[in-house]
Amino acid sequence: MKKALISFALSFSLGIAPLSAGAAERLKTLILDPGHGGQELGARSAGGLAGEKDLALSLAMRLRERLRDLPFLKVVSTRTDDYSLAADDRASRANHHRGDLFISLHFYPDPYRSGFVILFPKPRVKPRADASGWHVPGETHLDMSLTFAEILAEELTNATKTPCLGIISARLRVFKGLRMPGVFLELGSLANPVRAKELNSSEGQKVVAEGIYRAVARYRRLLELGGHEEPVSTGEPEGDRIIRKLSPK
Ligand SMILES: [Zn+2]
Repeated sequence: MKKALISFALSFSLGIAPLSAGAAERLKTLILDPGHGGQELGARSAGGLAGEKDLALSLAMRLRERLRDLPFLKVVSTRTDDYSLAADDRASRANHHRGDLFISLHFYPDPYRSGFVILFPKPRVKPRADASGWHVPGETHLDMSLTFAEILAEELTNATKTPCLGIISARLRVFKGLRMPGVFLELGSLANPVRAKELNSSEGQKVVAEGIYRAVARYRRLLELGGHEEPVSTGEPEGDRIIRKLSPK
């Protein structure tokens, strides 16, 4: 995956594609999916701090609280405690609750990367860029997954001050059979002692939750406005420029 990350480096300013016909009109139910659980530990943290399964769960709980701010939004978590859950069950729980958006929460073990990665379901055709941004021709859920991923990349970068290392299409088990737009978020390196400590802290979790919260709020507004978002920024981006990369496969 690292090679894919490097070879298709594309830098562009955020453009939100107009919604395709048949796109979900509203975000009424959001599915949060804390990765791993039970025997399945996920990535370990440096310094013996809480690892991926615990951090994903506590972030989901924090995010759920934060999202209470958005009226009439139902938030469902696929996992509410420390137990294992098969990938297929995560998607079927999301479908059962008739989710409009799915966010799987993860962290990664690679100590040599700094930033976060967003994966979205691998489309049958390559995403294409036009003046309005990236989109997947003819695939509504994928278009909306990519639209949400782009918003999320921007909001998470602003909130966490860490770069987006890539928005990558991937054929993940958790996306199989998922009947809604979805993303799989790799939030930061737990093998990096500094980042592991940050992500274990209340403040560190708060900024991540805030970034996701703002992205959800913006995405919901975008749906309500029928795909026409008011401009969010003009001129040169502040701070680090977001570099988004797509898998060449
Ligand atoms: Zn994971």
